[in-house]
Amino acid sequence: MTGRVAVLKAYGGEFELREYPVPDPEPGAILIRLTRAGICGSDLHIWRGEMKEVYGAVPKDLTFGHEMCGRVERLGAGVTTDSLGGPLAVGDRIAFCYFFPCGRCPVCLRGELGSCPRKGRANRVAGTPPYFNNAYGDYYYLRPGHFVFRVPDELSDDIATPANCALSQVLYGLQRAGLGFGHTLVVQGAGGLGLNAVAVARDMGADRIIVFDRLPERLELARAFGADDALSLAELPTAERRIKAVMDLTSGFGADVVADFVGYPEVVPEGLRMLRGGGCYLEVGSIAPGNVFSYDATALVRGNVRLVATSNYSPWALAEALAFLRRTRARFPFQKIVSHVYPLESISEAFQQADWLHREGDPVRVSRAALAMA
Ligand SMILES: [Zn+2]
Ligand SMILES: [Zn+2]
Repeated sequence: MTGRVAVLKAYGGEFELREYPVPDPEPGAILIRLTRAGICGSDLHIWRGEMKEVYGAVPKDLTFGHEMCGRVERLGAGVTTDSLGGPLAVGDRIAFCYFFPCGRCPVCLRGELGSCPRKGRANRVAGTPPYFNNAYGDYYYLRPGHFVFRVPDELSDDIATPANCALSQVLYGLQRAGLGFGHTLVVQGAGGLGLNAVAVARDMGADRIIVFDRLPERLELARAFGADDALSLAELPTAERRIKAVMDLTSGFGADVVADFVGYPEVVPEGLRMLRGGGCYLEVGSIAPGNVFSYDATALVRGNVRLVATSNYSPWALAEALAFLRRTRARFPFQKIVSHVYPLESISEAFQQADWLHREGDPVRVSRAALAMA
């Protein structure tokens, strides 16, 4: 038996589908038949060639993708439950972490598994056994030492797919930033991350949620996700005016938490100036190297500012993300986050469309594109 893996041939260009033998899971592993894979902002960075220092000047047999869900195809010896202790059987729908904290270092010992410096990541060279190491293929080989969770029956694959990346990261980040009941949150950028942040913050008891974006369609979606104030960069074209808008909405004191989900470094100094004394700035958006900003360190000191940056998450966040989706699925329009679904064989078209729509037009329709395998 063989399965397909999508291999990138040229940055910004086409994928090729290659067939590889489907492996038997070793003890402790799970072979997964993927049903969906998401195209995340970071996948677009890789595809465009903005991570060349990591993946080389020319993509060499590059496979990637990390947002996904699927069904248990085969269980390795000894795997009988998911990471919450519930029974796990062939055919069950599951979501899982795409990275592997070592569990045996001083950072893991502190309970911060998402920050583990020895965190294992999938091999991204096509043809490396066990072949199915990333999301853009028919199967995924979930190695021993994994964190896996059953997807609640009430959730569609489209809603469950971004849970192991955008939603878990936002949920983890907002908790680390100390967002709490009655707080005011400013969300910079209403893409997939920002919209999830609005929903999570609402559920965490935030009193006022202020969202900034450039595009009216995204602002409308932010309101549908529960934003109190969705403010347009077209109407507030300067940083000074946006900072003043936040101050006006907070009696001149600023927000408890400001979070960057944009990924352009210019937004950081602006966001820092929207904080109340003792507030927390949460940086999530910057993922491609070279996002340098400058800021007066004395202003940080005088403002008693806390800075929190978040990449990945501790595995408990994925369990909470799935529970959150089940609990609030009728309250937030999660089904609008994944807007376009393409078959795996159309992956090149999916990336071109997602990239074009991200940059040029109609971003509402393409908050997230996804691939269907089965
Ligand atoms: Zn992602
Ligand atoms: Zn570790």
